[in-house]
Amino acid sequence: MKLLIATGNAHKLAEIRAILQVPHLDLIGIRDFGPLPGVEEDGDTFEANAIKKAVVLAGASGLWTLADDSGLEVDALGGEPGVRSARYAGEPSNDAANNRKLLAQLESEGNRRARFRCVIALSDPSRVARTVAGSCEGVILLHACGQGGFGYDPLFVPDGHARSFAELESAVKNRISHRARALDKAVREWVDYLATEPAGWPPAGGALG
Ligand code: IMP
Repeated sequence: MKLLIATGNAHKLAEIRAILQVPHLDLIGIRDFGPLPGVEEDGDTFEANAIKKAVVLAGASGLWTLADDSGLEVDALGGEPGVRSARYAGEPSNDAANNRKLLAQLESEGNRRARFRCVIALSDPSRVARTVAGSCEGVILLHACGQGGFGYDPLFVPDGHARSFAELESAVKNRISHRARALDKAVREWVDYLATEPAGWPPAGGALG
């Protein structure tokens, strides 16, 4: 079964490919599909944005489509940057500028608690969508550390670890991240639903792993 992954973010796509390794599920990036409409992420919640991306691109492509909307919530900032995570420091989206702004906002702030949140939406070609969510708790560092990952990874240390997401091996991030947790739920909760698809997944008698 083909599944379109509705993200233009190459890092997210790579993480989703690494996490969602399911037999007979053929993941297709939007760049590999061909021209598709752009989708403005103007919702007030991760869920609204994830559903919008999934249904618009499922309708346009005719494929089952999975979309991720995610971001960072910082307690001392009342949950900001939240749904505005990608454009926190303005347009166009710039990870280094976003990280600089976040550090400036938290200067001399003692409460560094934060979490990444991820909502995954799955839409069928008739634009019927469902969602699952995952989160990952942690703290914001005083300085950026590490070269890996993307976005706020150099500033975020997940609970139970001493290094930032940008320093941890990608296999570790892909086991504990908000995205990993949401995708894990997606696989568990959507097996039966996806099996109703004409070219069903998993295939008759097929196992998940
Ligand atoms: P979206 O494309 O609107 O979902 O934007 C997600 C934004 O949230 C990204 O541009 C990052 O700034 C941030 N973000 C989401 N997930 C992660 C992650 O796994 N690591 C670091 N930053 C993330």
